Amino acid sequence: MDCIFCQIIAGEIPSHKIYEDEDFFVMLDINPVNLGHALILPKKHFRNLLDMPDKLLKKQGPLIKKIALAVKDATGADGINIGWNNEPAAGQLIFHSHVHIIPRFRNDGFKHWRGKNKPLNEELVEIARNLMKKLIM
Ligand code: AMP
Ligand code: ZN
Repeated sequence: MDCIFCQIIAGEIPSHKIYEDEDFFVMLDINPVNLGHALILPKKHFRNLLDMPDKLLKKQGPLIKKIALAVKDATGADGINIGWNNEPAAGQLIFHSHVHIIPRFRNDGFKHWRGKNKPLNEELVEIARNLMKKLIM
């Protein structure tokens, strides 16, 4: 498969690897928000969160915390953002699942998204009802 992250995991393309285990490979982002920005990749190819099996996701949770603590310690960051872009509309550019661990510093200038529209109360009630229906199925 023509996937740059699969090629990196296979060692065919160099990377700044910081950790690996049976299931995951962790490397530095080549174009970091701040130095120390890391990416957690499953070794097996999945497109993103939406097609990853629960069994693997259960292992990824504690690893996110482990890498976040290491990044915070090593960089002296004031905070950590966890990012996961799923599908192009959400900003995904590389279609091999990866979680961003981003060290943040007070006043580092990185801007988050802000809510752009204030929904009506009826809209919130309706979407909450629809979501609850999906979640009890
Ligand atoms: P996303 O928008 O979530 O798909 O982000 C892709 C991320 O992969 C970006 O932050 C890129 O800087 C990063 N990236 C792209 N190519 C490489 C590479 N060869 N090694 C490390 N990080 C990369
Ligand atoms: Zn891949």
